[in-house]
This record gives sequence, C-alpha cells and structure tokens, in this order.
Amino acid sequence: MVETSVSSGQLVVLTGPSGVGKGTLVQRLLTLHPDWFLSISATTRSPREGEFDGQSYYFLSKDQFQTWITEEKLLEWAEYAGNYYGTPREPVETQIAQGKTVLLEIEVVGAKQIQQTFPAARRIFILPPSVEILETRLRGRGTDPDSAIAKRLAQAKEELAAAPEFDYQIVNNDLEQALGELSQIICE
Ligand code: ADP
Ligand code: 5GP
Repeated sequence: MVETSVSSGQLVVLTGPSGVGKGTLVQRLLTLHPDWFLSISATTRSPREGEFDGQSYYFLSKDQFQTWITEEKLLEWAEYAGNYYGTPREPVETQIAQGKTVLLEIEVVGAKQIQQTFPAARRIFILPPSVEILETRLRGRGTDPDSAIAKRLAQAKEELAAAPEFDYQIVNNDLEQALGELSQIICE
C-alpha cells in the first residue's frame, strides 16, 4: 500500500451521473496535461462499438470480476445499472508513488469509497445544469439503448443528492468554463 503522505503524486476523483460530461472533461484534461495518468477500469458490461479491452476498460466476466474483488485487486468497486465497475489498485498506486497526477472517472458509490482508501484524494462532483439537459446529453451521445438510458436517469436522481458530500462541485454547463474550474482545483 502506498503512503500518500510521503508521495508527491496526487489522486483526483471525478464523479457525477452518467452523461454529465466526465469523459469529455477528462479527455480535454489529458490533452492539456499528457503526463497525467487516467486509470483504466474493469467492468462486466459489454464493450460498445469502438471500445477495446485494455484501452477503454478491462472487460471481465462476472466470475473474473469476483476473483479480482476476492484478491483485493480493486481500490474500489460498485454495481451500476446492472453491471460491476472497479478501479485496478496496482497501476494507481504505482503512478502515485512515481509522483504522477492520477485521474479516476467513476460513479458515485465507488467515489465515496475512495474517501476511506485515499483520504488525501481530491474528490470532485460534476453536476449537470438540469436533469432535462442530462437526459438530452445521454440521448445525444447515442451510445445507450432507451432501457439503459432510463436506468441511468433513475440512478442520476439518487446520485445528485450525494453531491454535497464531495470536496468540490462543478456545474458542467459551458464546457470551457467547467474545464477551467477543474484545472484550477487540480493544479492549485
Ligand atoms: P459521462 O462520461 O459523464 O457519461 P460524456 O463525456 O460521455 O459523459 O458526455 C455525454 C454527452 O454530453 C456527450 O455527447 C458530450 O459530447 C456531451 N457534453 C459533455 N459536456 C458538455 C457540455 N458542457 N455542453 C454540451 N454537451 C456536453
Ligand atoms: P459507462 O458504462 O457509461 O462506461 O460507465 C457507467 C458509469 O460507471 C459511469 O458513471 C462511469 O464513470 C462509471 N465507472 C467507470 N469506471 C468505474 C470504476 O472503476 N469504478 C466505479 N465505481 N465506477 C466506474
């Protein structure tokens, strides 16, 4: 286990409901800061078109995911909309020990667990301007069938209630403004 207190690296957790723009913001941050490290999660959901194992996610069977939990290979994990998602522990600890800024882009239940595992992490909640705009973004993304969108919206309403529990809240209305606020928090 890495001692965060003696490391110069930092862990940044971005959370918020599906469709709020976490992935978009993270990709922009990585373009601005190519030396930052984005953790690749494990999931039991099926790959979407254009997603490849080891790039977007490590795509695991439910049995494999269970083994990773049992072997304590995950820093956090959660069930979300009928599938499991989790952060592989080892790459995150290695990068932080090397002094890197490590980004996690994860859902709310897992992000709460990070408070216990890495109390020094900066945990940032991304809010949509409204639930209606969140739905428009989820539909506009065009990656999920209607049934999955309904599950994600139902979940979003619960997730939004947890926003005040996080260290920072950012509304992703204007993308450039949200990006500026995010950069300021991470680089301060
Ligand atoms: P998440 O990773 O949180 O699920 P995405 O990054 O995939 O969300 O964004 C969902 C959709 O919303 C995408 O089509 C993206 O282009 C769009 N989007 C993200 N941020 C904004 C913004 N500030 N204004 C308008 N559309 C946005
Ligand atoms: P998607 O299926 O759209 O790729 O992801 C669904 C949700 O799972 C998103 O909110 C995403 O941020 C979250 N997620 C992705 N990886 C992880 C992870 O490792 N742990 C947790 N707890 N959530 C994750």
